[in-house]
Amino acid sequence: MTFSKRIAGVLAILGAIVLSGCVGSGNAISISLGEAINLSQSNSFSKVAIDTGSGTMSMTVEAQTPIPITDSNGTAATASNGSVLTANIDSLNMADLKSLGFVFPVNTSTNAAASNLTSLLIYLGIPALFILMFIFFARRQAAGGDVAGFGRSGAKLLSPDRPKVTFADVAGVEEAKQDLQEVVEFLKDRAKFQAIGATIPKGVLLVGPPGTGKTLLARALAGEAGVPFFSISGSEFVELFVGVGAARVRSLFSEAKKMAPCIIFIDELDAVGRQRAGNIPGSHEEREQTLNQILVEMDGFDPNIGVIVLAATNRVDVLDQALLRPGRFDRRVTLDRPDTNGRIAILKIHSKGKALAKDVDLELIVKQTHGFSGADLAELMNEAAILAVRRNKKIIGMEELADSIDRVLAGPERKSLAIRPRDKELTAYHEAGHALVARNLPNIDPVLKISIVARGSMGGYTRFLEEDRYFITESQFRSTLATFMAGHAAEQMIFNEVSTGPHGDIKQATDIARKMITEYSMSDKLGFRTYGQTTVQGYLGIGPPETKDYSEDTARQIDDEVRVILENAHDTARKILSENRPRLDHLAGILLTKETLEGPELEKAFTEPITEKPAANPADSTGPTGQSQS
Ligand code: ADP
Ligand code: MG
Ligand code: ZN
Repeated sequence: MTFSKRIAGVLAILGAIVLSGCVGSGNAISISLGEAINLSQSNSFSKVAIDTGSGTMSMTVEAQTPIPITDSNGTAATASNGSVLTANIDSLNMADLKSLGFVFPVNTSTNAAASNLTSLLIYLGIPALFILMFIFFARRQAAGGDVAGFGRSGAKLLSPDRPKVTFADVAGVEEAKQDLQEVVEFLKDRAKFQAIGATIPKGVLLVGPPGTGKTLLARALAGEAGVPFFSISGSEFVELFVGVGAARVRSLFSEAKKMAPCIIFIDELDAVGRQRAGNIPGSHEEREQTLNQILVEMDGFDPNIGVIVLAATNRVDVLDQALLRPGRFDRRVTLDRPDTNGRIAILKIHSKGKALAKDVDLELIVKQTHGFSGADLAELMNEAAILAVRRNKKIIGMEELADSIDRVLAGPERKSLAIRPRDKELTAYHEAGHALVARNLPNIDPVLKISIVARGSMGGYTRFLEEDRYFITESQFRSTLATFMAGHAAEQMIFNEVSTGPHGDIKQATDIARKMITEYSMSDKLGFRTYGQTTVQGYLGIGPPETKDYSEDTARQIDDEVRVILENAHDTARKILSENRPRLDHLAGILLTKETLEGPELEKAFTEPITEKPAANPADSTGPTGQSQS
């Protein structure tokens, strides 16, 4: 009795020590980052700990009298001396937080986990240190002490993760989740499958463009099934000594087998699993050994023991065929960029824990994010939250979301950049040209926003309200090409010369025109066939990207035909612009003063009667340009 009581007492004291190291006394109150910044500016914190792992920051309040605060749900609360507040900081680091205006006290630490450990060591004293060291060495010994323990991820590799994410945290990839549901069932209850003799795939390959949630889905699968998750990434092997990668793969599989049912995840499989091209001597021995070891391990186990190997890649086309053979990664699950509904669902997932204004219309937002991946959408939400903080708001509004779309697309605004008036004017005409031609063509999505504020490497942009489409018709392609050419046509028409600005437009247009002929048979001259076969690029991208399966003569015909298509598109653009010259001047003029046009203002600029003289006159250097610059 007394003995167990004593143990309980010791445990309680230990617990208290650990707790005081973590969060201080009492329950932590969660507050918004904006609130945290405000409080920090009045020096209300004695101590701040940033945990980059969980993306949270905890702050210990120092106050003579209790201070009123608003918690993250918007309800009023009070914080007294010693209370601990936490705020969600996502992926922000200390420097980011400083630039948002957070004032750090002297006692600031940046990884709560590390700081807990230190304080724990101080409390428990030096003997504990020895015990910990002993445990550490014993563990290393247990790991076999072979090369697998070498390098940064040796430890991570041998101790699996238990992901907390589940399928509910992954949205917009319903088919992939359905495909994997069977694997979840299997991991949960193998007996059921074995009873009827059903075989389960050994290897499942997750295929999809970057940021579509492959890694997330793999972790969610483990979380959903409640099994351990062993992971390595192909890119980790690239810089290792020969033999280390293979040894790691070996110990990974042997550890995993001991912990079945479990999942082995090989991320970025293409980094090791590229086709063995054999044309670059020496450079890929390590890769090849690692790849061979993966193949050996995959062949050498029976999936019925409950180990499923998942791998992810965005370049399935470059994978060594040996990996895709039956009994290896023979099951493929494809993840695509999400459609409109998927994007709404993803935004909803990432808005959890963030306060959104009541008028936020996610539907309207996602219509502007055509082609965004899950990762882009996560970034969008995060950017919006940061913008809201920066604007001293407590909730995220429509403006923050809309502005973040631009940031995600093109990088932050470079308002401070000194742009010469003439360049600005050129940009205004260029973008007005795109918008006006699009407006006057059938088949083109409505113009949503025009901006001549420089962002990232772009001088300006015109954005369209894009719809999800399954097919694109030839006339849609032709209208699109004319829209692309319109920037160039406008510059030529107004300034009698062309800048480097339309370079990107023309490159994209050329790619489309070439595809129309070589892939979609949209040219009468070249008939119904495809031209060129895309093959595997050599290792490190060296080697021909495409084999020509047509004659030189045909190549010339294709070039001619591309030129004709582009010239027609340019003619269409020029015709529309010269027929609507007053409107073009009008639009450019408004852009020069307002810089950004959207919504009703944009509609008005397109439709209002033009009565006065053209708003902008490029020949006159004292035009509106001069004033809009500072
Ligand atoms: P990939 O491995 O395909 O490149 P990740 O899984 O690393 O992509 O995705 C990066 C981040 O983007 C995820 O951690 C998550 O926050 C977000 N994300 C991507 N796809 C989705 C999705 N389908 N649903 C929710 N979040 C997503
Ligand atoms: Mg990934
Ligand atoms: Zn352009």
